[in-house]
Amino acid sequence: MLYPTPIQELVNELAKLPGVGPKTAQRLAFFLLNMPQGEAELLASAIVTARTRIRYCSVCFNFTDQDPCAICRHSGRDARTIMVVEQPKDVVAMEKTREYKGRYHVLHGAISPMEGIGPEDLRVKELLLRIEREAPTELVLATSSNLEGEATALYLGRLLKPMGVKVTRIARGLPMGGDLDYTDEVTLSKALEGRQEI
Ligand SMILES: [Zn+2]
Repeated sequence: MLYPTPIQELVNELAKLPGVGPKTAQRLAFFLLNMPQGEAELLASAIVTARTRIRYCSVCFNFTDQDPCAICRHSGRDARTIMVVEQPKDVVAMEKTREYKGRYHVLHGAISPMEGIGPEDLRVKELLLRIEREAPTELVLATSSNLEGEATALYLGRLLKPMGVKVTRIARGLPMGGDLDYTDEVTLSKALEGRQEI
């Protein structure tokens, strides 16, 4: 390699990020090297701090710096409604609507036979335990409207209905293949409002 080892190592690490190829990694590395030392140190310490302090909430599996997370601890939230989402970013998207007052359960993915992701790779077992423990009255399935999201909702619907809990699916106001976090707040509110029992 033509670069001094510290640069090459930085390029190698950056290239591990999603969507970053070798060329982008080089460009980012040079950008970081041209930054004022203090700014580069702030970035480095933000990464270390977030990675050290953030963990999964032991109840809903959202990211949190306190366990249980602020939503699970909040006494004003309706504990009888649990919304099932794919990712922590979906919780943020739904919170922005200010319409939803229940709690969440983050699966950390969706069922995808193509990518070899099954229910056992998601937080499904934890969801079942939670339903037994908390006995919610409604489960809102708010997975994406793409193929994986629909497959996940179908699977969960079949699994949860026999447990005697009302299972609803958010309305298809979402654009086809729409991720929750790419959907505007009004559309998302309507999707929640128009949810239907499955
Ligand atoms: Zn939580």
